[in-house]
Amino acid sequence: MKNLFISETPSKIGKTVELYGWIDTVRNHKKIIFIDLRDRSGIVQVVGDESYAALSPEDVVKITGTVKKRPEKLVNKQLPTGEIEIEAASFEILSHAKTLPLPIDTDGHEIDEEVRLKYRYLDLRRPRMKQNLIMRSKITTYIRNFLTQREFIEVETPILTKTTPEGARDFLVPSRLQQGKFYALPQSPQQYKQLLMVAGVERYFQIARCFRDEDPRADRAYGEFTQLDLEMSFVTRDDIMQLTEALFTTMVEELFPEKHIMQKPWPRLTHKQVMEKYDTDKPDLRKNKDDKDELAFSWTIDFPLFTKQTSEDYYHGSGSATFAPSHHMFTAPHPDDVEMLDSDPLKVRGQQYDLVLNGYEVGGGSIRIHDGAIQQKIFDLIGFSEEQKHQFDHMLTAFTYGVPPHGGIAPGIDRLLFAILGEPSLREVVAFPATSGGKIAVMDAPSEATKEQLDELGIKTLT
Ligand code: ASP
Repeated sequence: MKNLFISETPSKIGKTVELYGWIDTVRNHKKIIFIDLRDRSGIVQVVGDESYAALSPEDVVKITGTVKKRPEKLVNKQLPTGEIEIEAASFEILSHAKTLPLPIDTDGHEIDEEVRLKYRYLDLRRPRMKQNLIMRSKITTYIRNFLTQREFIEVETPILTKTTPEGARDFLVPSRLQQGKFYALPQSPQQYKQLLMVAGVERYFQIARCFRDEDPRADRAYGEFTQLDLEMSFVTRDDIMQLTEALFTTMVEELFPEKHIMQKPWPRLTHKQVMEKYDTDKPDLRKNKDDKDELAFSWTIDFPLFTKQTSEDYYHGSGSATFAPSHHMFTAPHPDDVEMLDSDPLKVRGQQYDLVLNGYEVGGGSIRIHDGAIQQKIFDLIGFSEEQKHQFDHMLTAFTYGVPPHGGIAPGIDRLLFAILGEPSLREVVAFPATSGGKIAVMDAPSEATKEQLDELGIKTLT
């Protein structure tokens, strides 16, 4: 293992060091050759003799040399290692690089995205993308620390599972052992986290991968995304909103000190208010939308429990009912409105809250139904047939064995980082995202299955 990062070299003045990394640039002054050597942590200048002309950009090398303080007038203030340079003694080329198919010394926004995604492993070498990966890792670490300090337990839930309707199309995975049956990839761990509340976990979280077969948009990745999935027992809506607010306020202050949160505590606006005033349920409350360091968090609350069902809805029951949940079918109605479930369902408010940042919905959650009879009623209003209802027997059965009142939220990690950084697309904060056509370009997925694979699954394709 290499034991020194380039960022640590300024503390090694006078010492001989072994550095590993990539050649960033070579400046040939005939007798003296200046190399910028790059590793994950940064860049350092290396000074070598003419033999170093053998090196070319992006070669992977080991360089041994002495750390020297630069004379005052040669200090490079732009570079964190600019006070020193490495007087090279020897080098070894560990692997040679061909000329890259795309530049990596720019921010990359100007390059055709197809090319960037095809060569993503090179695209990720650019400092901006590396920084995005680093910030993403810091975010999940921060979340884990924050929540485990507050007695949350991180629990993994199955990826091969049964449909969890969140309003999107499922990805199906054929079962070999039970031919003709399919797993669905989870649209979210919603049902599992509620079952974990029945199990007595009380405070659960997971950095969860969710799968939805929906068309991509700038703020929606194709196929999969990651969310902080969280659930708590014995809580009110305010408890969850306060916890989320404390988590992300302190996180931004610690990890993104250059960003400015517009309003604290975050404004809470009812669905009615935002629709009337902004004509959207995710208003952009920034004062100056050109300032990339402004963060306007807000809550949208008191959503109607139902919307009118449309043919696009993935909730459609086979019955004649015309309602679809605004959030999902496990969201509890406002206690004052329960009576109206029978008389005027569209007037019932749901105990849903959406987390909005700079005009993007970055998370949603709710207090859940924990009363089997109300859950049944919601299924009826959505128009579920008896058969469709049976798909959720496990929930209703679980609720008969002592279920704590519970609620939760699920902020999207990709969405949050994308909105905080003000990136133009979600793909900028995902290591290997799908293209807008649903292709994972580096691997060229999806790909055909062999006849043997399909036979084993009992599947015939039409194409
Ligand atoms: N499962 C929901 C979602 O993915 C979030 C929640 O209600 O906690 O949007």
